[in-house]
Amino acid sequence: MKRYQMFINNEWVDAASGQWFESIEPYSGEVWAEIPKGGAEDVEKAVQAAKAALDAPAWRDLTATQRGALLRRLADLVSTNVARLAETEQRDNGKLIAEVSGQVQNVAQWFHYYAGLADKVQGAVVPINKPGVFNYIKHEPLGVVAAITPWNSPLALTVWKMAPALAAGNTMVIKPSEYTSTSLLELAALTKEAGFPPGVVNVITGFGTDVGEPLVRHQDIAKIAFTGGDIAGQRINEIAASDFKKVTLELGGKSANIVFDDADLDQAVKGAVAGIFGAAGQTCMAGSRLLVQRNVHDLFVEMLIKVAGEAVIGDPARHETQVGPIATEAQFRKILAYIEIAKNGGARCVLGGHALTGAAYGQGQFIAPTIFTGVTNDMRIAQEEVFGPVLAVIPFDTEDDALRIANDTMFGLAAGVWTSDLHRAFYMSDRLKAGTVWVNNYRATSFTTPFGGYKRSGIGREGGVDAIKEYLQTKSVWITTKPAKANAFVLG
Ligand code: NAD
Repeated sequence: MKRYQMFINNEWVDAASGQWFESIEPYSGEVWAEIPKGGAEDVEKAVQAAKAALDAPAWRDLTATQRGALLRRLADLVSTNVARLAETEQRDNGKLIAEVSGQVQNVAQWFHYYAGLADKVQGAVVPINKPGVFNYIKHEPLGVVAAITPWNSPLALTVWKMAPALAAGNTMVIKPSEYTSTSLLELAALTKEAGFPPGVVNVITGFGTDVGEPLVRHQDIAKIAFTGGDIAGQRINEIAASDFKKVTLELGGKSANIVFDDADLDQAVKGAVAGIFGAAGQTCMAGSRLLVQRNVHDLFVEMLIKVAGEAVIGDPARHETQVGPIATEAQFRKILAYIEIAKNGGARCVLGGHALTGAAYGQGQFIAPTIFTGVTNDMRIAQEEVFGPVLAVIPFDTEDDALRIANDTMFGLAAGVWTSDLHRAFYMSDRLKAGTVWVNNYRATSFTTPFGGYKRSGIGREGGVDAIKEYLQTKSVWITTKPAKANAFVLG
């Protein structure tokens, strides 16, 4: 079993508490790593290291091109360590090795993309409406950025923050989920190997209340980049607001995946399956509400039950596995509770609806792919995020009917539309209140395009060119070229 240390100022250190907590492999149920149990003292140490690094010439005086070169070196190191990083992460959160390997390859791509962007952030010379003055605009880093991430895609969701924040010249203190700290600690080692100066990247581990909250409250933090649930997101937003810290919040969803009768139904079934049973439903962008046009509803549900019912469920380390375990015991219990809520609320369970035990499932906590029909949009199963392989199917009649149901949620992360009608694709995409709309595909993301939520799904965007602006602030500089004889007592 590996005992990890935290990464502060390019050094490996134990928690000030001198304590560790256990990381459990979801499939085997075994404790496979020990993680330092951080607290406020460790937060202070990491923030001070990041603050000092901001003003240290080794980082401050790098050109943007040089920062890009460091990020590129880090990307290459990630590429040569994909297998090891993916295996580490897979052991921590039980996600399919096939999916995690792809995600880690993408981590390298994210670093490459923002490495290229680092020296393409340009200011402007303003044709100012005053004589004898030269005015220009420049963009500067915010300072120390705190990144706080969840367990479902630890490295991927960290790099969404890390790549633009470092490209922009900030320094960072990163706190991964208490359930999945190991892959980020391994990545931290690569930042040192790539040549990032001490204090630029710091990783502290521990629980939300012990480490996350002191980090959010810390006066020397300029911005919090958070991915997680809406409850923690709301709390972080409230704390940040009290001393004007900037935030980006990537929160939960209850996304609608909408199937019209003119769609290629075979493809739509695959999209519906990917939407809710990919990663065993433990994704923020899960298409957990399936809206099906009434005249194809019964046929589509039948097709869906067949595909989902034949899913290969079991050991996530095997390449043929399609549905893996639930990552944590708390999440497992929560999903089972929602299944009961759906049943008691009058929904009809047409597939699954129970936990799975047996030799194929190791010591893991598995939930059978579950489908509920007869759902109305006011039911809790249609309104609340389950974060598991549980699908709520809702029939609709017209486009506007589908839009009314799809938009009737406090969330707005994503939506899917399945149709062969181009006009309908545009009509729906324009009117869906969600940060991402997929037409005839589902669950695609890329470093080249923004991702983020409307409404209670969050604030700000990650990915794409503009995301680097989430880590920059703007300065307007006025330089007198010809002193004027203005009245010093009156605003010029
Ligand atoms: P969570 O909110 O419980 O925890 C996320 C992180 O926040 C963890 O590191 C945790 O320790 C920390 N934390 C918890 N309370 C805190 C507090 N008061 N102050 C500071 N930090 C605190 O979420 P989770 O269970 O780890 O992840 C699942 C959630 O994440 C789901 O709701 C899911 O939709 C969301 N998610 C969103 C996206 C997205 O991009 N929008 C992506 C993945 C996951």
